[in-house]
Amino acid sequence: MNCLECDAKISAPKDALPGEIVTCPDCGASFELYKEGENLQIRPAQVEGEDWGE
Ligand SMILES: [Zn+2]
Repeated sequence: MNCLECDAKISAPKDALPGEIVTCPDCGASFELYKEGENLQIRPAQVEGEDWGE
């Protein structure tokens, strides 16, 4: 999977679980893993106090 900020490659552990936080090695952005179908995807980590409502 690729960083949503800088497109650097982010590798999550094979046993990573949804809800875990991964950090981009390039820009340091944090992303939360979530499961979409069979695959883990990343989304911007929830920032406390900020509403990501769609
Ligand atoms: Zn990045």
